[in-house]
Amino acid sequence: MSTAAEDVRIDEGLIAETLVAGRRHDAVLLREILAKSLELKGLPEVDLAALMGVSDPELLGEIFQTAKNVKESIYGNRLVLFAPLYISNLCDNECVYCAFRARNRELQRRALSQEEIAVEVKHLVEQGHKRIVLVTGEAYPREGFEYVLNAIDTVYRTISGPGEIRRVNVNIAPLSTEEFKLLKARQIGTYQVFQETYHRDTYAWVHVAGRKRDFDWRVNAPDRAMEAGIDDVGIGVLFGLFDWRFEALALVQHIRHLERRFGVGPHTISVPRMEPATGSDIASHPPHPVSDIDFRKIVAILRLAVPYTGIIMSTRETAEIRRETFALGVSQISAGSRTNPGGYSEDEKIDAAQFCLGDHRPLDEVIRDVAALGYVPSFCTACYRLGRTGRDFMDLAKPGEIKEHCGPNALATFQEYLEDYGSPETRQVGEAFIAHALAELEPGLRAKAEKMVRLVKDGTRDVYC
Ligand code: SAM
Ligand code: SF4
Repeated sequence: MSTAAEDVRIDEGLIAETLVAGRRHDAVLLREILAKSLELKGLPEVDLAALMGVSDPELLGEIFQTAKNVKESIYGNRLVLFAPLYISNLCDNECVYCAFRARNRELQRRALSQEEIAVEVKHLVEQGHKRIVLVTGEAYPREGFEYVLNAIDTVYRTISGPGEIRRVNVNIAPLSTEEFKLLKARQIGTYQVFQETYHRDTYAWVHVAGRKRDFDWRVNAPDRAMEAGIDDVGIGVLFGLFDWRFEALALVQHIRHLERRFGVGPHTISVPRMEPATGSDIASHPPHPVSDIDFRKIVAILRLAVPYTGIIMSTRETAEIRRETFALGVSQISAGSRTNPGGYSEDEKIDAAQFCLGDHRPLDEVIRDVAALGYVPSFCTACYRLGRTGRDFMDLAKPGEIKEHCGPNALATFQEYLEDYGSPETRQVGEAFIAHALAELEPGLRAKAEKMVRLVKDGTRDVYC
């Protein structure tokens, strides 16, 4: 593929030089970097490289504490919840780490019909979910790409009792600009695509066959999505394929490219760590495994690098790791997930799943845990429905004004969950939590939030500001 002037360029030489330059640090310099990060303007790559080299427990503790402070000052204590909806595991690519890869004969292939998708959605709605990310492999049944468009319509159309899905995010293979325009017209929230690895040689050997072999087609997908008018894009790295320090700096180069070109970076970053997958040796033995402590460092350093970008933590990780990373900068989490098409309505069939999960708890249990840890579980979908996307969202986020919306919306949607879906135990924990959270708000915001929570208690649904 030919490259145009505005294409993404990951400068591997510069990353190597930055990592070397970052080795020259001492405690004084590191503390200066941490103080600078509290200005919430992000950090230059050389400072990030210096933080990456820290292993002293005291200094590491200071990095984690600073990330926590940054997270709290921007996001408060809310955590947005979602679930993945896998509609198909058909795939023409041969990504060596993934169970869906074309040559994997151990996997049962399946593309859900629109009726089956509706049944899955009902199950998610009946658990209390309001946001999903729709996921497929890179091959579609007979209808081609229309299959995905129809699936989005099916999700939005499906209602069960008092609930419905209010935001559909999409994680599917890169599209052309024209196809992205069709996706945008279906009212999607975020389009997500993970580069997997930004290291070209590694990318080439782990993507053996199929369209995904084309590094440039994939790395430029967020640009095409934004050109097509999709304001919110999500990017990420599959950690374990190459050195995490390189990947994190490359991710930051990618973010800076989007900021330069579109005036706004990605809406979210995902940090999947490779998990075992059927029919994949490498998934069980990653070439560059990331330890738990390094994983926490990745989350904390990204929080300091791009304070306003959401960080997503999936159920690939165990409940314990998830709990630790909430404090370090995570703003969105999945819960009660299945990665096999049909997994919500049928008994889980592991031989159709994409990878193994680390957190198997149902949504209600995760919510109770999140609240007990002091975070507000939020099902808010207000921003994109009110057009607060892309640059408009960042313009509100940067002066801290977004918290005036997020706080009350989080409490109102949590109350809605408790009314309609909460178990008696979760209701008890949740009601006490909401009363306490309302009391903590400053008076103006408290009045607004109390009014919204009251409306929900009195039977109004989908209350947001
Ligand atoms: N097929 C599309 C693609 O590759 O872009 C979209 C969805 S793919 C099913 C979603 C993501 O799952 C991939 O981008 C990859 O990062 C992740 N994934 C694949 N295999 C994995 C594994 N063994 N462990 C953890 N994550 C994995
Ligand atoms: Fe297919 Fe995506 Fe899995 Fe690659 S990661 S094999 S493209 S589903």
